[in-house]
Amino acid sequence: MPHKTKITFYGGAGEVTGSNFLIETGEQNILVDCGFFQGCDTCEVRTRDSFEYDPSTIPYLFVTHPHLDHVGRIPKLVKDGFRGVIYSTPPTRDLAILTLKDSVHILREEAKQNKKPALFSEEDIEKMIPLWKIVPYHETISLEGGVSVLFKDAGHVLGSSMVEFSRGDKKLVFTGDLGNSPAPLLKDTESIEGTNFLVMESVYGDRNHESRNERREMLEDVIEEVAAKKGTLLIPAFSIERTQELLFEIERMMETRQVPPMPVFVDSPLAIQVTEIYKKYEEYFNKEVKYIINSGNDLFSFKQLHLMRSTEESKKIFEAQNPKIIIAGSGMSMGGRIIYHEKHYLGDPNTMFLIIGYQAPGSLGRRILEGNREVTISGEKISVRARVLEIRGYSSHKDLDNLIHFVEKGIDTLQNIFVVMGEMKSATFLTQRLRDYLGVNAVAPRAGESVDIDF
Ligand SMILES: [Zn+2]
Repeated sequence: MPHKTKITFYGGAGEVTGSNFLIETGEQNILVDCGFFQGCDTCEVRTRDSFEYDPSTIPYLFVTHPHLDHVGRIPKLVKDGFRGVIYSTPPTRDLAILTLKDSVHILREEAKQNKKPALFSEEDIEKMIPLWKIVPYHETISLEGGVSVLFKDAGHVLGSSMVEFSRGDKKLVFTGDLGNSPAPLLKDTESIEGTNFLVMESVYGDRNHESRNERREMLEDVIEEVAAKKGTLLIPAFSIERTQELLFEIERMMETRQVPPMPVFVDSPLAIQVTEIYKKYEEYFNKEVKYIINSGNDLFSFKQLHLMRSTEESKKIFEAQNPKIIIAGSGMSMGGRIIYHEKHYLGDPNTMFLIIGYQAPGSLGRRILEGNREVTISGEKISVRARVLEIRGYSSHKDLDNLIHFVEKGIDTLQNIFVVMGEMKSATFLTQRLRDYLGVNAVAPRAGESVDIDF
């Protein structure tokens, strides 16, 4: 008798955020990810809503990586009755606990404004921590009913995983977010050869990025121009992976004298703490980075680098002579210390404002990127005289061509592909492309939809 397994797409279907999938194998209920819904009008309400299943009936949660749209609701899950085991790789757990703790004060502020209780508190995170077990890549976890599970490298952020479930001769894989390999720091995404059922992301399912060499050359040009102008290079950056990639690339460029040396300020307490965690997990880096470490180089620390932990230190950046580089959070300029620098530097024609990540509609970053010459920052009108540039190649997601190439590796065994974690436009484009180019059975499920597979 073939087995029957049901997958329900509770979040991250037809949209990028809210990743949350329930697998019912008949023997046990398993969740993959439990993230925030972000960047839409109904997102706050949906993040607060009760789960559509009873968290106390779930014995297992597998976590792909620490971005909040994949882990944000885990403390709420625990608050609402989950008492099972949470599994992830070691860096995912460390980074998730750090970002969840960091989100508590933002949630508290939001709650005050909306006159509602906060989604979760520090205590809920403390209750979550003892449930969380760590497992390195490729170590098998055996569950009841002959189901076994392992994590494979997704190459998206440090420790990020695909989750591979096996039963008999069948394999079911959840990709989580898929890295833009080859990446400066991480190993390439592993192959899905031998997979029968695939639940895959599609954030950039309808477009392509610049290549790694192109993006590095673009960054080099920008730094050279800032040096020539004696200006300021202002980069809003996400704390996990993007900041560390930039530091790595800039350090290499200065070390090899491809660009003139100048001070580099990291002005984000969260990004600094994330960088400390990165330093703990050298074995997760790619060969090139390991070689650099083994030749005696200290990763993410060089003469020109200044880590600004306190607000007092942060203020000193204004006094530092040009040219200089400032990397500050948040990545979409929605809060964080980047705001102060934008107020201070955007009006200066010698400033270069460099966008390297996805900017949600309505965010300050998006408004600047769209060419608005005047923006309001915390009630103050600021005219934008800075030169605004974008390098999309620093995205930490695979683009269209690479997503197709990734699926192609599993073509011999793939029975069904479920395309999720992308805006509807992007998910349907990729779905169609997979059908047309590879002749595979691909669909883009809707939120709340269930499917049966013979797993
Ligand atoms: Zn992610």
